[in-house]
Amino acid sequence: MHSFRPVLVALLALIAFAPLAGCGLPVEPPVTGRLAAAEVAQEPGVDPSLFLADGLVQAITEEPCTLSGGTESTCYRIVVSSIPTDHDAGPWCPDTITDSAEAGGIWLEGGEVHDVDGPFIANLATFYDDPAFKLHEDDGSIRVTRSAEACAAAARPDVDEAYRNHCVQCLLEYLGEDVVHTYIIPKQPVPLERDSSLGRSAVGVAFNGVNFDPPAPTDAILGAHTLAPFDDCGGHVNPVAGYHYHAHTGCTYEVSSEDGHAPLIGYALDGYGLHARLDEAGQAPTDLDANGGHSDATRGYHYHAGEAGSNAILSGFHGEYGCAFDGAVPDEPCDASASSGPGGPPGGPPGGPPGRPTATVSPPIDPTETSEPPTATEAPHLHLPHLSSED
Ligand SMILES: [Zn+2]
Ligand SMILES: [Zn+2]
Repeated sequence: MHSFRPVLVALLALIAFAPLAGCGLPVEPPVTGRLAAAEVAQEPGVDPSLFLADGLVQAITEEPCTLSGGTESTCYRIVVSSIPTDHDAGPWCPDTITDSAEAGGIWLEGGEVHDVDGPFIANLATFYDDPAFKLHEDDGSIRVTRSAEACAAAARPDVDEAYRNHCVQCLLEYLGEDVVHTYIIPKQPVPLERDSSLGRSAVGVAFNGVNFDPPAPTDAILGAHTLAPFDDCGGHVNPVAGYHYHAHTGCTYEVSSEDGHAPLIGYALDGYGLHARLDEAGQAPTDLDANGGHSDATRGYHYHAGEAGSNAILSGFHGEYGCAFDGAVPDEPCDASASSGPGGPPGGPPGGPPGRPTATVSPPIDPTETSEPPTATEAPHLHLPHLSSED
């Protein structure tokens, strides 16, 4: 982990200049450090060397960009395959209602992480107090989407009738070669005056190249009487977004901190560091803001991933974000300010990140709005299993 100690400089600067200031003499600003924020360090910014080479489709490059708040900045272009190279993916759906937890993944509900084993599937009608849930045949076999075609059909906003009451999963081998993602992230974060809500697109990227997604709209998934489990690493697959995370459970490559702080696991789309939930002593931070972030004297502002059961890795942006694109590598520069549009919620914050797919601009959504009908701009995005309100 790179060391970063600007606070010490700032403190020394304070000690050096405070007497002069008290005498009313002109004070030269220090060359380094921040007098006004002795308690909070300047953020280190994005360190491209931390990304695992195996997850990168091409070398990380720099380019001009326009951030969501209109700030002209310099961004890193990070192009990834979004297939984890540092841990296995799956399983998601068990085969029978007697299978053990090893045969399935997890489900996030009520702030808790639930093992999706056979009995969990068999018990869904009770779990959700909805007798229409029955994902298994009378012989105990579980109905699972077992082909790329089934996966695509279950991914449609209007779930194919044939795949209601299914356990929905897509396998990595269903993905084509061209499932790449491009993140254009500011080298140095720029704080917003007012926090911004998350859009539909990726909220950040892990060092293994896998995207951190906004909360999965589980209400919509359940509304079709389907279940779309995450694997034990908090990820699942859809044909457009590839493999992506909705929870951080500790599988991904991480960069430990010298001071025992929770390890760094990637970056948010605004360039702030994203850390695991727990520090080396197993303690969670107690002073997080509504975004899931806070500041300290070593790292400046940074985020901590939400609890795995919360279905929210990140809850909002503290800074101006860049761009996230799914699909073919775009040639165009990132202008995240262009995503502010008339489609945003009344009185809401400026626009969310450009949505999927690349050619369209989508307004921000409330992550809890999971029953919103699809719009024309969302239609091409078959983000299984996010159904009608793809994030
Ligand atoms: Zn998802
Ligand atoms: Zn922290």
